This record gives sequence, structure tokens and C-alpha cells, in this order.
Amino acid sequence: TWFPIRRSFTEVIKRAPRRYVHAVDGVSFKIEDGDVFGLAGESGCGKTTTGKTILRLVDPTSGIIGYRPRKRLLDEWKELGYEPPVIDKYGDIDIAKVPSKYLKPLRKEMQMIFQDPYGSLNPRATIYKILEEPLIIHRVGVTKDERIDIVARALEEVKLTPPEDFMYRYPHMLSGGQRQRVGIARALILQPRFIVADEPVSMLDVSIRAEILELMMELKKKMNLTYIFITHDLAVARYITNKLAIMYLGKIVEMGETRTILENPMHPYTKALIKAIPEPDPKNREKIREVPIKGEVPSAINIPPGCRFHPRCVSYDQHPELQKYCRSVEPPLIEIEKNHWVSCWLYGNPEEIIKMIRK
Ligand code: SF4
Repeated sequence: TWFPIRRSFTEVIKRAPRRYVHAVDGVSFKIEDGDVFGLAGESGCGKTTTGKTILRLVDPTSGIIGYRPRKRLLDEWKELGYEPPVIDKYGDIDIAKVPSKYLKPLRKEMQMIFQDPYGSLNPRATIYKILEEPLIIHRVGVTKDERIDIVARALEEVKLTPPEDFMYRYPHMLSGGQRQRVGIARALILQPRFIVADEPVSMLDVSIRAEILELMMELKKKMNLTYIFITHDLAVARYITNKLAIMYLGKIVEMGETRTILENPMHPYTKALIKAIPEPDPKNREKIREVPIKGEVPSAINIPPGCRFHPRCVSYDQHPELQKYCRSVEPPLIEIEKNHWVSCWLYGNPEEIIKMIRK
């Protein structure tokens, strides 16, 4: 038997060597006001961790999360006696450096829509209670009547009308699509400007996905929102995002305008993801079998050296002259053409790029 009989489970776990996972490593991107910035990739590639880190739901171990705050946020911090250090001439601040006790006002600016409309709502609370909670925490709406008004308006915004029909129901009395509308209303009730939407339609029936995506776009326009949209579905990314970053094992491997990435993918992993989109036409079934990728995603605690995609890359097999670089040096994310960034030794001269990195 491999399990030591007289030791407790906790003791065994304590004795096991500690191993750390870099769920996200060296990720860098810029989001403009009004963007819908997509983060796409397989499960476990670091999309959700990236989104949660930006919101400080996960604390980063290093790096900068630059943010241009609204006056409302600065005023609230001022009232609390906190002045965030400014990092550039535009007045941007570093969210990563905001002490935990001053994060509360930031929640009004930045919110998250969760993937699971079934698990993310408290089953014991009515829809009114679920939506009232952030109002009480952030002291929005002093009287109960004011809060009822705000909740009713939020339900109308997400098209759960008439609101009084929904306010006093429990989550289990709603369909998946209706629950996700409540999730969206909860994220928007404090009037934020930045939303991280973590696979918000992946658990919904295909028939209602488009409705939810359309609602999100409508609200974006109406409330001047900026989204990070996390998805593993490139068809959804094509529909909703204007910029897209493809992630693999905690790194961005390709990034640019969504249209450019999907029409002219350059990284072998992006090409494989695009080829893996199911082909409904039976005449094209052959294409489905030709997905150019090998094996399974390696474990995040045992990341391959060099280009972390090399054990699965078919271009690696086709380019023996590049293999020594692919195996030993991580390719940097380089702008190959305007606003199109790729991390792969197939593009550019590896010797020159390595010299530049090491300077
Ligand atoms: Fe493939 Fe090498 Fe490019 Fe990595 S750097 S994606 S292994 S060709």
C-alpha cells in the first residue's frame, strides 16, 4: 500500500513537498475604454485567474495593474484618508498596490459576472435580497423604498419585467437564462464601468446564449461599459469581442484585433483552436480530424522549458532548425504586424531576438 496507515491525511499532506503553480505568468495587455477584450484558451490556461487578478479577487505576486480611476473612486478614497500612488502622467494608479482595506470602493467601479448562473446566486435568498445586498454593503439607497426602486430598475434593465413578478422569487424558480440576467443585474447595480465576464453563456442552452450576449452589448452601449470577456468558444469571441488574446498555460501566445486573429492566425496553437471549431457540413468532416495539435495540456506544476507549447506543436516537428530555440528559450510576445502580437520562433530571427532580450 502506498498510504502510510498510522498517519493522518493532514499529516501526509503537510509532509508532501510544497509546489507552486504560476497560473498566470508575465501576461501584459492594454484595454481601452469601450473595448470588449476577449481572453480565450483551453480550461486551466489562466483566463479566469487573469480576470480575478485584475479585480483583486486574487492577489498578484508581482506586476502592475494600471487603471485610470473615475473622480467618484478618488473622492471615496479621499474620504477614507487614502491617496493611491499615481504611476504615470495620465493619473493612472496601480490596483495591485491598493491595500486590501481600501478595495471596497473599487468594487463599485469593477464587477464580475460569473459563469455559473446556478451556483452563483444564494438559493436561500430572494432575487430582491440578492440584489439589495451590494446596495447595503456600499450604502447606496438609504431607505428601503429607495433600494426597492433601484432593484426594480436593475431588473428592468436586464429585461426581467414586470420587476415585481421576479423580485420575490427564489433562484430555483427561474430558468438558467433568467438567473444569468439576475447575475448581470447584480454586477451592474452599483453602476460600474468595468466588467469581467467569466464565460457568462457557457452553461446556458444554445438557444438563449445569443439573447444574453445581445443584452450585454446593449447594456455596454447604454452604460458605457468596458468588458473583459473570458471564453473558450471562439465563435462567441468572434461575435462579441473586438480584441482578443489567446492564452496557453498561463501565457498570452497571440493577441490583436479579433478579426485579424481569427482570419489570419499565426501562432500554431491559435491555428489549432480555430481548426477545432466543429464543422457542421459533413462534406468537410476531414478537416475536423486534421486538428494540428498533439497530446494533452501538460500539468501547470510541470511547465515545459522554452516554448511551453513545444511538446504539442506540429510546427516544431516541421522546423528542425528551430527546435533548439523552441526547447530552451521562451519566445517573447512580438508585434509581427500593426496590433498583431505573436509569441513564436517561427516569426523573426531567433538569434537577433534573443540578443535583444538579453541586452
Ligand atoms: Fe511551435 Fe516553436 Fe512556435 Fe513554440 S516557438 S509554437 S514550439 S514553432
